Amino acid sequence: MTSSRPPVRETRPATPRVRDTAQVRPATEGWTQKKDAEGRPLLQFASPKRGKPPVHLADLTPVERVSKVKELGMPGFRAKQLEKHYFHHWTHDPAEMTDLPAAGRDEFVHGMLPPLLTEVRRLETDRGDTIKFLWKLHDGALVESVLMRYPGRITLCVSSQAGCGMNCPFCATGQAGLTRNMSAAEIVEQVVRANRLIADGGLGDPRRVGHEGERVTNIVFMGMGEPLANYARLMQAVRVMVDKEHGLGMSARGITVSTVGLVPAITKLAHEDIPVTFALSLHAPDDQLRDELIPVNSRWKVDEALDAARAYFEKTGRRVSIEYALIKDMNDHAWRADLLAEKLNSRGRGWVHVNPIPLNPTPGSIWTASERDVQDEFVRRLNDAGIPTTLRDTRGKEIDGACGQLVATEEDQAVAAATPLET
Ligand code: SAH
Repeated sequence: MTSSRPPVRETRPATPRVRDTAQVRPATEGWTQKKDAEGRPLLQFASPKRGKPPVHLADLTPVERVSKVKELGMPGFRAKQLEKHYFHHWTHDPAEMTDLPAAGRDEFVHGMLPPLLTEVRRLETDRGDTIKFLWKLHDGALVESVLMRYPGRITLCVSSQAGCGMNCPFCATGQAGLTRNMSAAEIVEQVVRANRLIADGGLGDPRRVGHEGERVTNIVFMGMGEPLANYARLMQAVRVMVDKEHGLGMSARGITVSTVGLVPAITKLAHEDIPVTFALSLHAPDDQLRDELIPVNSRWKVDEALDAARAYFEKTGRRVSIEYALIKDMNDHAWRADLLAEKLNSRGRGWVHVNPIPLNPTPGSIWTASERDVQDEFVRRLNDAGIPTTLRDTRGKEIDGACGQLVATEEDQAVAAATPLET
C-alpha cells in the first residue's frame, strides 16, 4: 500500500483546502461492532425518511412515461423523443432538443428530466483512465461513482444508496452509516453522465480521437450502498439499463450486482429473468469470523448465502463471483482458502469463481492488506482445488476511489456545501 503513487489530478471545480484528513492506520486498539438494543450487530435496512428526489423519466415504465408526458400537456409520442435524447445522446438540456416545440420546452423537459446529480468534484488518476466523481443529490446527500477504462471495456462503479447500513468494519462506506436509498433515476443518471463525459473525450488520453462510439460497457454495483437493500429501485435501474427500446440497451451480463448476502433478495433476483452477473461478498468461509467481518451474517449464515449463490447459478446459468478482501492475519490463512474451496466444491463444479482483492486502506482502519506471498498462496490453493481464482486489480486507490474507500470526507463536504445545486 506504500508503493509509489501515480499522479492524481483534480479537475474542476477548484477546491478550497479545509484541513488534512490524515489516514490513521493501523491503530492499536481493537474494533468494536456497533450493536442494537438487543445486542445484535447494528444493521440499517430501512432508509431514513428524507424528501424524495423528483420523479424522472428513468423512474417510470414506458407506459407511465407516456401518461406523464400527457399530464404535462404534450402528445404521448414525445416520450420516445425524450428517451432518445436522454438514453442515446445523454443530454437533458432543452437547448439540444430542437425536435421539441420551442413553446413550453424548458418546463416540459424539466418536468420529465429534472436535474438529479450535481457534480461536486472530479478526481483523476491512471493518466485519466480512472475518474472518481462526487455527486450531490437534491437533498445534499453525497454519493460517488468511479469510471475506469480497461482494454476493450469501460466500467462504471455505481452507488445505489447514499451511505450504507451494513456496517462492515473494513469498509469506509459501511462505517459512515446509511443516509438514504437512491432512486432508480439517480442510479441511472450516473451512467448517463459518464457516457456524456466519454463522448466528449473526457476519459483517458484527450489527444485520442473517435470517442463518439464509446460508452460505458460494464456496470458494477460496488459503489456506495447495499444494492439488494434497495431492491425495487435497483431493479428499475437495471431494467432501464438493459432495455433496448426504451433505455440504455446494455447487456445484462455486463452488469454485476454485488451483495453482502441478503438471502431472500438473492433468491428474488434469481427469478427476475434478467441474467445479471451476481457477486457475493463472502470474505470468510466460516461463521465465526464472518459474524465479525460482515454483520449481516448474524441473519444469514455462510452456508445459506452460498446455497443462495449456487441457486442463482442454477436458475440463470450465470457463473457466480465470490469476493474476498484479503486482510492480513484476519482471513488470509491457508486453511481458510482450503475451507472455502471445500465449501464451493461441495456445491458442484464450474459454477463459481473467486475474486480475492487485497484490502484497500480506509481511514481509521486497524487492518491492512495481506502480504504478497500470502495472497499468492491463497489464490494458488483455490486454483489447485479446481476453482478459477484471480486476484482483482484495484484501481483508484490514490484517489480513494477503490472498493471500500468511498465515503464523503470533510473536504468533500465543504466543497459540496459551496457548490450550488444544478437547476
Ligand atoms: N454492499 C455491496 C457492494 C459494495 S462494496 C457488497 O458488500 O457487496 C463492493 C466490494 O468491495 C464488496 O465486496 C466489499 O466487501 C468490498 N470492500 C469493502 N471494503 C473494502 C476494502 N477496504 N478493501 C477491499 N474491498 C473492500
